[in-house]
Amino acid sequence: MVHWDVIVAGAGQAGCAAAWDLAAGGARVLLLHGGPERPKPCAGGLTIKALRRYRFPVDAVIRERVDRVAMSRAGGPRVLAGAAVPFCVMTHRRELDALCRERALARGAEWRAVAGVRAVRQGAAGVTLTTSEGEVLRATWLVAADGAHSPVRRLLQGQPAASPAMALEGHLPRAKARHYPPMTLDFQEVPGGYGWLFPKGDHINVGLYVWRRDRARLGRDHLADYARRALGSGALEEVAGYPLGTWLARRSPRCGRVLFVGDAAGSTEPLLGEGIYGALVSGQLAAGALLAGRPGDYPLLMADWGEELRQVERVTRIFYGVPAFGYAALSRWLAPTLLAGYAAGLTLGGTKRAWRSLKGRRHLLGSPGA
Ligand SMILES: Cc1cc2nc3c(=O)[nH]c(=O)nc-3n(C[C@H](O)[C@H](O)[C@H](O)COP(=O)(O)OP(=O)(O)OC[C@H]3O[C@@H](n4cnc5c(N)ncnc54)[C@H](O)[C@@H]3O)c2cc1C
Repeated sequence: MVHWDVIVAGAGQAGCAAAWDLAAGGARVLLLHGGPERPKPCAGGLTIKALRRYRFPVDAVIRERVDRVAMSRAGGPRVLAGAAVPFCVMTHRRELDALCRERALARGAEWRAVAGVRAVRQGAAGVTLTTSEGEVLRATWLVAADGAHSPVRRLLQGQPAASPAMALEGHLPRAKARHYPPMTLDFQEVPGGYGWLFPKGDHINVGLYVWRRDRARLGRDHLADYARRALGSGALEEVAGYPLGTWLARRSPRCGRVLFVGDAAGSTEPLLGEGIYGALVSGQLAAGALLAGRPGDYPLLMADWGEELRQVERVTRIFYGVPAFGYAALSRWLAPTLLAGYAAGLTLGGTKRAWRSLKGRRHLLGSPGA
């Protein structure tokens, strides 16, 4: 029986990032694709910091480059904010995943599709994983990249107690829309969240996000109504919802020989629900720790991102807790600074730190010579 160096369970953004780096580093790695056959619900928006994490060009799947965003609150008028250069690109998640899987396999990862995982056992020498079909797979390490529902985490530790964020989305064909919108964030379309319109060329991705799903229920009728109001048609296709893992700051991303990455580790930022960046960072850090023969370092390596998420959670609580105040600050003066930070490839915390220095502030304000 094959004994893999690493099995990566889950071939989403975190799993593919880990598998690519592991294979490139010479590890014998099996990328295991399981779970539901339908594509992962995701709006496919990539900030510049996320874009820069890929080990290969993803231009082939970029549908739009975004340098402005329309915003509103509670159905009020929209305001437009922008940056001198794009701060975000739009991809179709299915195309992005297909590209990343193809690149991980081309780099040397092996591939197996299974219906799911039935059991995970850890011992002194390795991990044994039993698939839903009853096949037993062995490896020295397991990287659990199986999303916010993480069957591996549930098998080992039970479901995280923290209430995760939730998002619901659908596609409106461009031909059915009254107009082709810029990237749009309509805050307080849901309490503690926002509605979004992401332009994708042949369709518009329409969605609702809530940072704590115990605060508001996201419904299909609400989504269709939002699309009708915003775009003139509620005829959405491929409507699907999914939770987002935002609990990294409260839970270790390692359990013995299992390293959790991406949404399974809770690495998504809660303010807007941006998860792809955390998925790439955690996947790459887990791979690096394993290749260095120092898996125990992985939680330490993730501590920086955990601290960033802790800070973003504080901002999130204020922003959605007192939305009139939060939105007034965002729309009147914060947005251009934030967008300049995002365009430079910074995180939210990185933008805040840059703002504290004169040089950083000049750069964010677009001063000549910055
Ligand atoms: C509606 C919606 C819109 C979003 N929009 C954005 C956005 O625009 N930008 C952004 O940055 N983030 C967005 N997010 C968040 C982002 O999608 C996630 O944070 C990100 O996909 C996490 O990546 P991942 O690889 O950890 O998990 P996932 O993408 O969930 O991938 C997990 C993979 O594991 C597989 N799997 C499940 N069970 C098993 C098993 N037993 N064995 C093997 N494999 C298994 C699944 O099929 C899946 O392919 C959005 C989320 C939602 C729900």
